Amino acid sequence: MPSKALQHWVYIGLLAGCFAVGTLAGWTTLAARVDHYAYDILTASSKPFSGPPEAVVVAIDEETLRARGGMRNIRPILTEALTEISAAKPKAVAIDVILSDKGDGADDARLEQALRATPKLVLPCDLVNQSWEDPLPQFAGSAAALGHVHPEVDRNDGVSREISLEEIAGPAGRRDRRWALALEAFRLSRETNIVESPDELSVGEVTIPSSRTNPGRPLLIRYRSSGIPTISAMNVRERQADLKGKTVFLGVTALSAARDRLLNPYGQNIPGVEVHAHAFDTLAGGRFLRRASELSSIGLAFLFALLCGLAFQYLAGWRAYAAGIAVLLCAHLAPVFFFARQIVFPYFGPAAVAWFSFIGAATYQHFFVRRQLTRSESEKSRYQQAIHWAAHEMRTPLTAIQGSSEIMTRYALPEAKSKQLSEMIHAESKRLGRLIQTFLDVERLADGQMELKRERFSAASIVDTCMGRVHSLAENKNIRVTLDSAVDGALTGDRELMEYALYNLLTNAIKYSPAETHVSVVAEQKGKQLRISVRDQGIGIDAKELKNIFKKFYRTKTAEESGIAGTGIGLSIVEQIVTHHGGHMEVTSETAKGSCFTMVLGADFGG
Ligand code: ADP
Repeated sequence: MPSKALQHWVYIGLLAGCFAVGTLAGWTTLAARVDHYAYDILTASSKPFSGPPEAVVVAIDEETLRARGGMRNIRPILTEALTEISAAKPKAVAIDVILSDKGDGADDARLEQALRATPKLVLPCDLVNQSWEDPLPQFAGSAAALGHVHPEVDRNDGVSREISLEEIAGPAGRRDRRWALALEAFRLSRETNIVESPDELSVGEVTIPSSRTNPGRPLLIRYRSSGIPTISAMNVRERQADLKGKTVFLGVTALSAARDRLLNPYGQNIPGVEVHAHAFDTLAGGRFLRRASELSSIGLAFLFALLCGLAFQYLAGWRAYAAGIAVLLCAHLAPVFFFARQIVFPYFGPAAVAWFSFIGAATYQHFFVRRQLTRSESEKSRYQQAIHWAAHEMRTPLTAIQGSSEIMTRYALPEAKSKQLSEMIHAESKRLGRLIQTFLDVERLADGQMELKRERFSAASIVDTCMGRVHSLAENKNIRVTLDSAVDGALTGDRELMEYALYNLLTNAIKYSPAETHVSVVAEQKGKQLRISVRDQGIGIDAKELKNIFKKFYRTKTAEESGIAGTGIGLSIVEQIVTHHGGHMEVTSETAKGSCFTMVLGADFGG
């Protein structure tokens, strides 16, 4: 059984593994999809806007193109629309039609004039092969600003959730930074400047959280589900009142011609110009979503793993599960909670960590508790067995003590006899004391609590002691016990226990042998090992039963049938003692011929 500290470390390691796996899972494509899905749902259910949009889209739609001769007439269409838009006195005008190619001279001249007549005008530039595709200089000169119209589309699902507020491009040494079309339009509408700091951009009163450490300073667009009011370029004249004081985004929306149609989080396919208008609307609304930093998402996931771990460590039964489920709920609701506070947390990673930790901690604790239970069950049965054994072993000396003391009190005995009896009482009670000690030692040995004594003693001394102790037992059956070799070597360990082991082998040999036979003890040196064998000419053990002989309570059929009393515990203790001393037991036997039990132990033979 591993120690408590080790168990704690295993548990902590398991939770750390759950945390790592969950965090890694949070970086997969699947996780990105789930996070987006959650983001889109939260977007759809949030209402961040207080008033109507400040942006209006003037759309060069199918109708306009049809009536005005298609895209080849885009410049006259723009000229006409601009003239009417300017007359409506909007706050600012942003055009989302790239004007980088030369067209018909007269058309271009008229467009240039219309552009000049439009105050606070933003013209688009686009990123082509890492450099800026700007409007023709004649057009660019009339614009108050150039803004990039580079769309930011998610690689996984093609949805446009954010735009880069800045893009940097151009050949090395002449790299040029452009703000987004929507940001320039916003700045012009507020008649102020853009002030940058490492973590924010400020436009007048509005502070946009947007860190320089994120390339492009991305801005999450808050789309209105109702869309941005759109007026066909054909109808500007009639709708001029709707443009007054607004910021106008003029661009192509016709499906047949718009080269930039994008998906928004509602799954709607919208033209690029409307995306810019939504970005403007987000800036004007002033309620910005910011993505939680990687570190805080990992921190949140860590907190969930920790809480699950603590719940299952310190609470029991249903309480642990209830607390675990509460953590899971928190993990699922945390993104909702934070979204309401304008912070976008990933959904998948922290939830995955919470689930893995919940399952990991619950499984660990379940098996841990089960293991504890099995352990205490087996401890209980071991204890009962031990009591059984102790009762059995103690009966013999107790009977002797009781018998002798009774004789002494009942009869007036001659002094010599009385002395003999009290000596016997003394010897037997000492034996009883030893037995109790052995019992306690063996108990603690099995429990792994006991540190074995580490004394050094000669092997010959324990052989001598044990042979002396079994002398009378052998004599009763007329069995000859002989030592057939010299015993060399010193053993290190617990002398009491070792004596107990050898004594047991000798008593068994005598017990399971018929009268008038021979028990021989042989000690051999084999390398650094000492082999002490006890050989008898007794009833023997069937080959099939040999493997069970050291199991607790096991008694051979022959032994049971012979009527010889026994519990089947002795040999299991012998084996435990020998193994705890770094040795092992060997046994050979033949039915009706005899057995040979050998203790194999490491010994020191000097030199
Ligand atoms: P016990 O002698 O009290 O039954 P042990 O654990 O000492 O318990 O021995 C287990 C069993 O092994 C015995 O019941 C007996 O069947 C068998 N056994 C042990 N020693 C011998 C032996 N010397 N000769 C034959 N059988 C033996």
